Amino acid sequence: MFKFLKKKLSGAVENISKKVEELPSDELVEDSSKELVNDSKKKKTIFTEIKKSISTKKITESEFDDLFWELELILLENSVAIEVIEKIKTNLKLDLVGISIERKKIKKIIEKNLNEVISSLFEDNDFDLIESIKGHNGPYIIVFVGVNGSGKTTSIAKVAKMLKSNGLSCVLSAADTFRAAAIEQLEIHGEKLGIDVIKHKYGADAAAVAFDSIQHAKSKKLDVVLIDTAGRLHSNINLMGELKKIIKISNPDLKIFVGESITGNDCVEQAVAFNENIELDGIILSKADIDEKGGAAISISYVTGKPILYFGTGQNYGDLEKFNMDKFFSNLGL
Ligand code: GDP
Ligand code: GDP
Repeated sequence: MFKFLKKKLSGAVENISKKVEELPSDELVEDSSKELVNDSKKKKTIFTEIKKSISTKKITESEFDDLFWELELILLENSVAIEVIEKIKTNLKLDLVGISIERKKIKKIIEKNLNEVISSLFEDNDFDLIESIKGHNGPYIIVFVGVNGSGKTTSIAKVAKMLKSNGLSCVLSAADTFRAAAIEQLEIHGEKLGIDVIKHKYGADAAAVAFDSIQHAKSKKLDVVLIDTAGRLHSNINLMGELKKIIKISNPDLKIFVGESITGNDCVEQAVAFNENIELDGIILSKADIDEKGGAAISISYVTGKPILYFGTGQNYGDLEKFNMDKFFSNLGL
């Protein structure tokens, strides 16, 4: 996960640290040393001042801009969203410009600041799905949205498996009525997992399928309804209208956007458009296992203001990882 970005980031931190070390000493300190030459009592101070001037460095704004350039390119290359790069730059600038930094600690300080700046991009994510479902009365309804091929159906099956492992019952709702194959695919998952699938025939009204699934869950006293929806382009207003109808009828407790981590900025833009239309609650980033760049993972939460709930990390049912900030940062080497 995110190996390419990790390698590049650590390389950049290394290079920037070296460049800072090579920057000329601060003039201010050298000037003061000239004034103090004949005063024996102050000699000690001169010595400490000079030593300090060698061992510490204040980065000026223009030096910072030069130094950040390399980092900026790396972030761009790894599909980090422009507004996120700007945010990182502004915050790092506040942390690093005009502050005396001990030369020996430069690398650590840059790493620490980068870590803090990137952490600040994430929404608080103490949401626990299982707890939330357990504390809920009546069936807990989750609608999954996203473009075709994003890993929506697979993610639904993974969530179903996770619920089952936690002693929670659920039903799958085949409200993607647009493709016959989608209904079939959900049925296959249902069979493998031993979970009921509610479906109508191909081309039926998706909102009606969602409605029936909820009725089914109520009558069987099931804990959760997982609603699959047709993949749609985020730019298609008519299809967004259909989605709104499903949401109006099902009144979900959670609206989850499933996006492909590997598609970088596209994935972020899709999430923004879905969020504008149906106000998302959270995000699953699928295919994080095959994403070397991590740009979507870094950007999506900040740009949408919604938390990443899970990473999809493979094609098996168990490959769903709850988002964990510490683990994420260790993947980035920060
Ligand atoms: P949908 O059209 O959005 O329902 O997408 P699918 O669930 O059918 O997934 C599309 C393809 O992506 C399938 O081949 C899945 O096996 C694969 N896939 C889904 N999630 C992941 C993941 O987290 N990692 C990897 N490597 N593949 C995934
Ligand atoms: P365009 O791609 O924006 O030109 O819009 P189209 O109406 O041609 O449809 C685009 C794609 O949306 C189709 O290829 C379908 O795969 C997909 N699609 C997904 N869900 C639906 C749905 O519920 N209704 C319709 N009409 N299309 C859907």
